[in-house]
Formats: sequence, structure tokens, C-alpha cells
Amino acid sequence: MRQVINKLIRDDDLYGAVESAYSQGWRRMKLYFLTGLPTETDEDTLGIADLATNVIEIGRRHHRNPSVTVSVGGFVPKPFTPFQWFGQNTSAEMQRKINLLRDATRRRHGVDLKWHDPKASLIEGLVSRGDRRVGAVIEEVWRRGGTFQEWSEHFDLDRWVEAMAAHGLDIEWYVQRHRHEDEVLPWDHLDAGLHKDFLWQDWRDALDQVGLEDCRWTPCYDCGACTGASIEHIVASATPPAGGSQGTGVDLASGGAVPVTLSPRQPGALV
Ligand code: SF4
Repeated sequence: MRQVINKLIRDDDLYGAVESAYSQGWRRMKLYFLTGLPTETDEDTLGIADLATNVIEIGRRHHRNPSVTVSVGGFVPKPFTPFQWFGQNTSAEMQRKINLLRDATRRRHGVDLKWHDPKASLIEGLVSRGDRRVGAVIEEVWRRGGTFQEWSEHFDLDRWVEAMAAHGLDIEWYVQRHRHEDEVLPWDHLDAGLHKDFLWQDWRDALDQVGLEDCRWTPCYDCGACTGASIEHIVASATPPAGGSQGTGVDLASGGAVPVTLSPRQPGALV
């Protein structure tokens, strides 16, 4: 899955960071995941439970009762990303995956599972890739009393469904439909820098699980982010840091030893 979303950290990077934190006195880890990603299988979903269990096992080397909070959010495709063509998972499918994970973590001592309401992810998907007609829907929801919709205690899916119906629009068409390469997207007239053909290729690479190395250590891919900005691409180093650019930077060869001594807080100190 990390190859698909181009988060090229390894298990060892994550476990190295966890080891460092637990060894310095921290007892609770917080890990954040997305569900509903392209190509995702139930095995990937259940892998979250295994990863959390491994984190707890590392914690037990340092504490009697370590804990890990696993927060799971539903994946919402965004414009100007390789996933702008991807049909988002239905809220029922996201809930099924969360239930799978809930059952898998239920008896794993120390693992605390939290999740974002998949119904809210549905509307986030609508707002994320809506066209100008959705603007009128947002106003309609507000006129029907729907304020603070991003607060879980105020969110009301029915208001959105009713407002969409009042404007003759279909939520599924906006949120769950896969787009074709030649479809004109509502934001195509805007320029965020990234070339659409680069994004399409990145999307195809993601489906083939081809991770793209960070361009700070590779030749330029001409993605468009700095093309034409009179910026010269100078490779900072031919060697990426330990753990990769998105990794922890922990030198795993040294066994994760952390030469830091914690000082007790001084009386009267503000922090
Ligand atoms: S150097 Fe700039 S244009 Fe080239 S791949 Fe990196 S961000 Fe994109």
C-alpha cells in the first residue's frame, strides 16, 4: 500500500521510531491510517492490526502497559493529485473495513481503535471533487440549518442528501465514480503547477505499485511543480538520508541507540 501512495518508509523505519519513543519514557503511541485506498485488500486492512500489535510488543520491552491508539480515516481523493480519477469507496464499504479492523483489534491488549465516520467521508468526497453546482448545494444545506457540518455532533447526512436531491444531483456520481483519462475535470481550468499527464502517469504507476523516488535524489521528473519557475534542479545528495526522505532519519545500523538524557523539569519552569 505504501508503494501505491508513495509513502516509501519501511517497517523498520516505523519500528525504529517507536523503539526510540518508548525507550525515552513515552507509553502511548498514536498511529494514523487511511482506509479505502486504491488496490486495497482486506489483507492490507488487517495488516494495520498486526502493525499495531508489533508496536505494543516493542513497547513491552520498556513498559508494563504500553498502548497504541490507531486512528483510521476514510480516503478522500483530492484534485491535483494522482488519485483525482479514483472512485472513492462507498461509506458502507469503508464501514465494513473498519468493522473488520475493530474485530481484529478487539482482543489485542493495549490497542485502542478510533475511526472517522464514513458518512462524513462521503460528504468530504462530494466537496473535494464537486463542480460549481455543488456550491449551491452547500448553500442549501446551510439554509436548511446545517452549520458546523465538520463537527461530528452537528453533522447530518440527511441534510446533504436532501439538498442534493433538491438540485437534481447524484452523490454517487460525484464521489464513487471512477473518471476516465479524457474527462474534463471541474478544476482543469485552474493551474496548481502539476502537469495533468504527469499525474495520470503517476496514477497508472500507483495502480502498478511503482513508487516514485523523491526528486531531491533523482533526476527531475518534470512534474510541473517548479517547471518554468526559473528554478534549477540541483540534486542535494546522491544518497537519501537513512529511512528515506519520509523516514525517521534513524540510523538503523546503530541499533536505534538514542544518546539523549531526559532532564527532570525544574521547579517553576514554564514548560
Ligand atoms: S524538480 Fe521540481 S519539477 Fe522536477 S520532479 Fe521535482 S518538484 Fe517536479
